[in-house]
Amino acid sequence: MAYRAAVLVVAAWLLSGCSGESPPSAPSPPGTQPVAQGSPFRVMMLTATRGFRHDSIPAARDVMNALAVSSGEFTVTTTEDVSAITASTLAGYDVLLFALTTGELPFDAEQKTAIVNFVSGGKGFLGVHSAADTLYNWPDYGGLVGAYFKEHPWTQSATVLIEDQTHPSTIGLGDRLTLTEEFYTFRENPRPRVQVLLRLDPSSVGATGDYPLAWAQSYGAGRTYYNALGHFAETWRDARFQRQLAGALRWAARR
Ligand SMILES: [Zn+2]
Repeated sequence: MAYRAAVLVVAAWLLSGCSGESPPSAPSPPGTQPVAQGSPFRVMMLTATRGFRHDSIPAARDVMNALAVSSGEFTVTTTEDVSAITASTLAGYDVLLFALTTGELPFDAEQKTAIVNFVSGGKGFLGVHSAADTLYNWPDYGGLVGAYFKEHPWTQSATVLIEDQTHPSTIGLGDRLTLTEEFYTFRENPRPRVQVLLRLDPSSVGATGDYPLAWAQSYGAGRTYYNALGHFAETWRDARFQRQLAGALRWAARR
């Protein structure tokens, strides 16, 4: 009797466990689905400049558009128009990407508040290359990026060490990559405040010291990522760079 009772209890438990669930193929009622992992997240990409303008900007745009299409993971809106960044437009995006921006972009106080609130409220920010050579007079922006550009002492082929091979932006890259770039240094080493992902192998440029080149950090409830590479169009077309950007976007968008 004891055995039979146990079997019945298990059967009843199995039935009750299944009774509340729809078959796997049945569509969920509208409005009850969580944010679908398969639905593309939305990226706003700004390439405005008020200083040096990189020749690689068209390549950067083309590459991000192509990545969006090939991955199907995200959509990208590219703009040169600083006034397009407002609280209401940002509400339609998951990640704000500053790519190859330079100088004191003319954001007003409302726009600055909108950008900070966007990220600290749980969305993502990515800065690439001269995004660190942008908005020196707005310290909150420096906090988003993690450090301001200082110099580019080395434009040559060099080795970049992958410090963290488990971050979504670095998985599959191995422990190093060698490429020709304009390698940045920063006014302050961001290492104490961020999670460093890439650093220059100083011996590959005949130097010594600690030179982080890409990093990630939390920003309020949001996430920010910066990558100092991207000076040359060839870098944007490099699958190893694209892999990092796609992974960083996914991470920043919490996908
Ligand atoms: Zn550059």
